[in-house]
Amino acid sequence: MSLVIKGASLLGEETVDLFVDDTGTFVDAAPAGAETVDASGLVALPGLVDLHTHLREPGREDAETILTGSQAAALGGYTAVLAMANTSPVTDTAEAATRVWELGREAGLVHVQPVGAVTRGLAGEELAELGLMHRSRARVTVFSDDGKCVHDARVMRRALEYVKAFGGVVSQHSQDPSLAGPAACCHEGELSGRLGLPGWPGIAEEVVVARDVMLARHTGSRVHVAHVSTAGSVEVIRWAKAQGISVTAEVTPHHLLLTTDLLTGYDPTYKVNPPLRPQEDVAALRAALLDGTIDAVATDHAPHARHDKEHAFVDAAFGMLGLETALGVVRTALPDLSWADVARVMSVAPARIAGLAGQGQPLAPGNPAHVVLVDPDATVTVDRDASASLSRNNPWHGRALTSQVVHTVYAGRLTVRDGALAQAGALSS
Ligand SMILES: [Zn+2]
Repeated sequence: MSLVIKGASLLGEETVDLFVDDTGTFVDAAPAGAETVDASGLVALPGLVDLHTHLREPGREDAETILTGSQAAALGGYTAVLAMANTSPVTDTAEAATRVWELGREAGLVHVQPVGAVTRGLAGEELAELGLMHRSRARVTVFSDDGKCVHDARVMRRALEYVKAFGGVVSQHSQDPSLAGPAACCHEGELSGRLGLPGWPGIAEEVVVARDVMLARHTGSRVHVAHVSTAGSVEVIRWAKAQGISVTAEVTPHHLLLTTDLLTGYDPTYKVNPPLRPQEDVAALRAALLDGTIDAVATDHAPHARHDKEHAFVDAAFGMLGLETALGVVRTALPDLSWADVARVMSVAPARIAGLAGQGQPLAPGNPAHVVLVDPDATVTVDRDASASLSRNNPWHGRALTSQVVHTVYAGRLTVRDGALAQAGALSS
């Protein structure tokens, strides 16, 4: 099917009509018989790309599947997501990576790009099949033990050396386990003492970031810092970039807006790793995103079944949903961010970091048609029960967020129409 997207404001600037032919490619004139999508008053951006999504399949299909996660992604304006490797079994072989990639293609709503594990079973000891995963049909280029830190410097060094050969990147969950162990769940400070929660100090992140940028310099390879959460990490990354070291970084929507004082109610919805930080860190993260020290916003969408999340704070699982709300949170946290900058941090930069051809490209003839159309003035009150995700651990429930995804187009096909899944709409009408 071909499309005419009529009257969209390109990156919030000039008003244009966009034409998509039946191969899903932008062309410079309206194809015959094209369906018209009214985009007047809507901002057109390249489809969003998420560097950090947990889809839970295989292994925890009660919390999320590749299909439901893809639906949540499309509703959030995404056309590509990177699916983290900490599933069961772990994505540490070519077969496992190819399976995730195939299930993503079957769902057909976004490009699901598997992230390969750095080490076998995420055990932090032996390297996983990095080269075989890269040479598989899934063409894995991003590797991460996310959920766990590659804490052994020798293993991290070898992983960086290995992926350098094919232009891969290691995405690190920076958490020194000797400074912040598995129980650490609250930013270490006066509040963690008062609440009696195990502290997760910023330094546990910063020492790993500092070590890894030095390993990236030493090996001449590329490191990506997942979910940066402290001002100190920002300082290190800023220094490393100034030295010409190949480092990129992401921040989550929740670390741009939520602060550690939310933990006073012991609500496990706010339990996340790394933990919510004080306002000074939030301010530093916002500034770093604006000045380009942090390259990208990544959701760390982490669905959990009720029986894993609804516990006493110390026993609950880490993580929160994020795909459907990310754009609204970014707009709410940073109302002065231009639409060109939104496109940069949520589409262009993440596509470049992950090496995803065809994503994060200008909405111009010859390029694949991955587009999100956003109502910039809408205010949406989040309802966790209206989510496509199978999980409900949504920290934004009841909050008003700025802007709304109205239509999403993936490979020239409407996946979201008028704020709802296009396929579901077609079935019910
Ligand atoms: Zn992580």
